[in-house]
Amino acid sequence: PNKPLGQILQETASTYPANNALSFYGKKITYGQLHSLAFAFTSALQQNQVQKGDRVAIMLPNCPQYVISYYGILISGGIVTQVNPMSVERELEYILKDSDAETIVVLDALYSRVKSVQERTNLKNIIVVSLQGSVQDFKPDRTFDRFLAEGNGKILPIEFEPEHDVAVLQYTGGTTGRSKGAMLTHRNILANVIQCHEFFKDDLKFGQEKCLTVIPLFHVFGMTSCMNLSIYIGAESIMLPRFDLEEVLNTIKNEQPTTFPGVPTMYVAITSHPHAEQYGINSIKTCNSGSAPMPVELLRSFERKTGSKILEGYGLSEASPTTHCNPPFAERKPGSVGIGVPSTEYKIVDVATGTTEVPVGELGEVIIKGPQIMKGYWNMPEETANTLRDGWLYTGDIARVDEDGYLYIVDRKKDLIIASGYNIYPRDIEEVLYEHPSVQEAVCIGVPDPYRGEDVKAVVVLKAGKSATEQEIIQYCKQNMAAYKVPHIVEFRDQLPKTGVGKILRRALREESLKN
Ligand code: ATP
Repeated sequence: PNKPLGQILQETASTYPANNALSFYGKKITYGQLHSLAFAFTSALQQNQVQKGDRVAIMLPNCPQYVISYYGILISGGIVTQVNPMSVERELEYILKDSDAETIVVLDALYSRVKSVQERTNLKNIIVVSLQGSVQDFKPDRTFDRFLAEGNGKILPIEFEPEHDVAVLQYTGGTTGRSKGAMLTHRNILANVIQCHEFFKDDLKFGQEKCLTVIPLFHVFGMTSCMNLSIYIGAESIMLPRFDLEEVLNTIKNEQPTTFPGVPTMYVAITSHPHAEQYGINSIKTCNSGSAPMPVELLRSFERKTGSKILEGYGLSEASPTTHCNPPFAERKPGSVGIGVPSTEYKIVDVATGTTEVPVGELGEVIIKGPQIMKGYWNMPEETANTLRDGWLYTGDIARVDEDGYLYIVDRKKDLIIASGYNIYPRDIEEVLYEHPSVQEAVCIGVPDPYRGEDVKAVVVLKAGKSATEQEIIQYCKQNMAAYKVPHIVEFRDQLPKTGVGKILRRALREESLKN
């Protein structure tokens, strides 16, 4: 993987110039066209004095302009700075200041948000993307098409050191606290693309696949599994800007994708559709689930209903992201996130010391080493030193491995609930709740309790047309788990707060509970 990441687009475009690279609401863009557009973007950046190492932000939903900008920035030697389009002003300002980006590519609907923070940042160039044909005039800023026309048809050659040069600043989702910019080098990201391809090579044939790209590209999972992996193998990416259940199902029916990287909440939605079996979901060879735990009961009901197969994996922004997955070539173990992808070492160490390895089957923190592990956090030397020790990434996740090396993520260190001195892993309770016939989604958090220190609270979304009372849920838990784990408070909601990629936001639930 010792080449600049942008080169994979150049190589695929020369091998498969006429193959479709992107599909967006029926509009197709071939690899030849995508490469020319990215090249034009690079040229325009250079005409605007963007230099190697400059940060260029992208704040877009999934759309062709995302991919064009991303590769245009990479080819220029710039650093892609990923911004979640759901960021509110405060979050946006933080990322723009922290990265010191001078250029941003932004959706027209979010333009006013950028304008309102601009004077407190160093932003100079704002490039506006309109997906529906804009009627507004963005002067003195410019539209994406006008910006592309600012190139001169040439690009200045750039010297790359793929091992050192940062390709992407991947801000962590902030589910646990302040967002940190993981510095992913060209080599980190390309290594992960190649690791994933090696792992899935029988299912990922060059020039033949179609990927359902609905998880957001600003998130590291979408960036690698949907965008970069597709470009590497010359797959067509069927892009959707948001997860709308009917739209996703109709897209599957019409386009027959062969791969679908998704998150558990998406599989919940599909499974709860009354006629999910009618959309030909079994055209998908593998549904890769990652980002958050996949409850075993959900995996089974999704597969029963759709005839497709889920392989759960694990990763994190700091690892570009994939480190583990259930293998397509060996036993799959539901509840586990599988084995390491090629060239990935991992071990479970004692949480307190961080050094002593614990015996097989025992819980500890999982630490990981491999070519996909980030260079460090941007502007955060202390956090970097805490997280990267002797080349090992300290993930902050509590896990165990079994005798075959399969990894089981139990919970994040920070999500652990300590009640009456007992360590309670929310996931243990959630797995049971998902087995309850009326429960669609469930999450458990610790809430302050004067006697026990913390108490367990379950927040539950019921399936449409089903009912259950707080007492019934508590009773069900009593029958299915040790008494100390049983939640004493159950709150019912119509939906749960989620991050841009669809992860349940425990932090938001905890903060709300503290206020009440
Ligand atoms: P932050 O790190 O700031 O809280 P985030 O959670 O959005 O934000 P990511 O890098 O997207 O950051 O998430 C990585 C984390 O997601 C992992 O450390 C792990 O806790 C969790 N995770 C990922 N895949 C799985 C999985 N299959 N099962 C359980 N947890 C998972």
